[in-house]
Amino acid sequence: MTSSAPSGSELRRRILEALAERGPSSRRELMDRVRGNRGLISREINALRDEGLLEPTDRGFALTEEGWRALARPSREYEYRNRPVRLTRGGPEVEAFLRVIRGESKSRTGSIVATTRCDMRCKFCYYNLVRDHVDLTPEEILEEARRRVEAGNREVVIQGASPHTLGADLVEAVELIKDELNVTVGVGTGPLIPTDLLEDLRRAGLDYLKLSFSGRTREEWRAVTGRSRGFDEFWEVVAWCHRHGLEVTFVGGVVGLPGIPEEADAERVLTILRLNPGKTVLQFNPVQDPARGPLRPEKLPRIYGLVRDRAPDDVILKSCCVSPASWRPLYEVREHLDKVVCMLGLECREYDGCPFTGRILEQRILNELYERGPMDTRELARRLRVSRRRLHRRLRSMEERGLIARRNDRWVYERGG
Ligand code: SF4
Repeated sequence: MTSSAPSGSELRRRILEALAERGPSSRRELMDRVRGNRGLISREINALRDEGLLEPTDRGFALTEEGWRALARPSREYEYRNRPVRLTRGGPEVEAFLRVIRGESKSRTGSIVATTRCDMRCKFCYYNLVRDHVDLTPEEILEEARRRVEAGNREVVIQGASPHTLGADLVEAVELIKDELNVTVGVGTGPLIPTDLLEDLRRAGLDYLKLSFSGRTREEWRAVTGRSRGFDEFWEVVAWCHRHGLEVTFVGGVVGLPGIPEEADAERVLTILRLNPGKTVLQFNPVQDPARGPLRPEKLPRIYGLVRDRAPDDVILKSCCVSPASWRPLYEVREHLDKVVCMLGLECREYDGCPFTGRILEQRILNELYERGPMDTRELARRLRVSRRRLHRRLRSMEERGLIARRNDRWVYERGG
């Protein structure tokens, strides 16, 4: 039986992937690592070097900015349309959402919203809805970080819209957190971050930078964000981080925009695994309007299904839910999703009945019904020590999802019971 030799383009891809995975490598290391004829591999390395996709460094061959771009190139040409997005500007859901992202809510999100400002203004971004902007001082960012560390986190991520707009204050915040809390610190920001600020952040002890991956080509970037701005800067920042040994990690940005094929969305999200080999969590979100939910919910099953099918089994897929209008479309794709992160928490009017929250309470309810048999709401509330009003909404939600049923005013365990 003969195995066919890899084509030139396949070999190129393997060499680029090996460099993305292991970092700078010598010719010999590449020949050992990449499957294929050693002579052909060596020739391909020379060709990639001559085309400017690789460059020799004192640590071996490394990917250039062009090399990173080539690694992310789509498998085929897609047709994109840059369609406008109109977000709802008023209403209780939008108000609740703005309270959370402006830090005015009791509900705190996992990451720190250090500023609501951004210099990109992507067309889908809900930070475009903010009128009175909020910027935290370095001391306030430290305080937010301290709360999270006291709650058990060993890592804090300074996010927002784009915290690099805070300039020197961001550097000071990173320094303060590293000095006083000694935890891992990441910054999630936009691609227009200046490289001299990156240098200062790196010196301050920043552990990694997190960027949204909004497009593999200029056309895709423009269709997703609504503008070309940021595309070149993105790749410059990626190349800078690799050159200077600062870890750079990516989130999948948004999917489900009008004008973008579902396959292109799924492929773009999956490209992150090529840029960050070994990544175990893939985060991407549907484009969501806090008042109306995902803009194109009908696209989501296909996009999420494609990502799930093609991602390795051990990769966790994660999306955020930003309002009660979003839970149903996300619930519809739950078989493809491992985790839904709740943005509103107690600010959400659906909180007590939401399928993505209250997991511990649901488990306690199921345990109680399984072990003690059917019981009414009053009895359950007494046993679990929760208010009847909150419990009732959670029970109705569980009933709707087929976890429990009501018989003669008493709740019974449904699954396997
Ligand atoms: S409570 Fe549920 S519906 Fe509300 S924002 Fe959180 S996850 Fe979404």
